Amino acid sequence: MRTGHDLEFVHLTKRYGDTVAVNNLNHIIASGTYVCLLGPSGCGKSSTLRMIAGHESVSEGAILLDNVDISALPPAKRGTAMMFQNYALFPHLSVRDNVAFSLRMQGVDKPSRHARADELLALVHMSDYADRLPAQLSGGQQQRVALARALITKPKVLLLDEPLSALDPFLRIKMRAELKRLQRELGITFIHVTHGQDEALALADEVIVMNNAVIEQAGPPREVFNSPRTEFVARFMGGHNVITIDGAKAALRADDVQLGEAGRAATVTSVEYQGATVALTATTEQGEEVLAIVPEEDFYRTPKTPGEPVTLTWDERRVHRLQA
Ligand code: ADP
Ligand code: MG
Repeated sequence: MRTGHDLEFVHLTKRYGDTVAVNNLNHIIASGTYVCLLGPSGCGKSSTLRMIAGHESVSEGAILLDNVDISALPPAKRGTAMMFQNYALFPHLSVRDNVAFSLRMQGVDKPSRHARADELLALVHMSDYADRLPAQLSGGQQQRVALARALITKPKVLLLDEPLSALDPFLRIKMRAELKRLQRELGITFIHVTHGQDEALALADEVIVMNNAVIEQAGPPREVFNSPRTEFVARFMGGHNVITIDGAKAALRADDVQLGEAGRAATVTSVEYQGATVALTATTEQGEEVLAIVPEEDFYRTPKTPGEPVTLTWDERRVHRLQA
């Protein structure tokens, strides 16, 4: 018997007509975990999240929270809360009233709900903006308000669907650190949908990689990155080559490929300067394309340009077999 607010998927399935959006998920998310649900567009991430939230019906199977089947409960009775991609703040309500909104729906008196809203605004560093309207806030500030609003119901599980996608790259990195801090402070489960592998690696205690409506692989970020189980995961996580060895597919990290004296002869096809590293692509004599990510200094000792020959080497022990 597990303890805490574990969330469990049991044969969880979602169909829209003939489309199977989520196909028989079986998985347990441990209480207090920062989970990133990662995968390409259309793989079933939002459908999974909406079923957990109760905004979408479950076609087959169940969702258990604390060993209780919540899949037929209304959203407000589940112990979950959702933060939407577009924040969905009420334009005519002040920041404080937006945050207090669900307490008002529950009939909580004004002084109590305002006091609680102010606590949450302090948590997201928005105390100074309580009396403003949403239109008077930046995108990042609106997002903090949306977070406070979702958290006011004291959810056991916070659901976030691509929460950072509307922000510019600088703010995105700042806000993701904020999300991580909040999750640590609150100790509740966060389930964060993203299609960005860097975001998932940066945030997650557990990465769940979805593809074609199923879980392709789940585990701690370093495990998923270093030991991708399938070609799909290796390619989707990025930073890996998928090469053929003895007729079988294998993954090789691009930063494990070196430019050497002896090794495989290849022809450079592209060179991209990345700052601390240089990404060099070359085609081997066997016609296989290999990506090498080499430290800037190493590259510029003997710089290469497209069309030039190059020799690629790697430690065979770093090659990782993939499941067919
Ligand atoms: P993701 O969030 O990973 O991009 P979704 O869960 O939104 O994926 O979609 C999964 C699949 O279900 C897609 O093929 C999508 O077209 C389909 N789908 C999603 N929502 C609906 C809907 N309301 N009606 C019909 N099909 C849908
Ligand atoms: Mg989606």
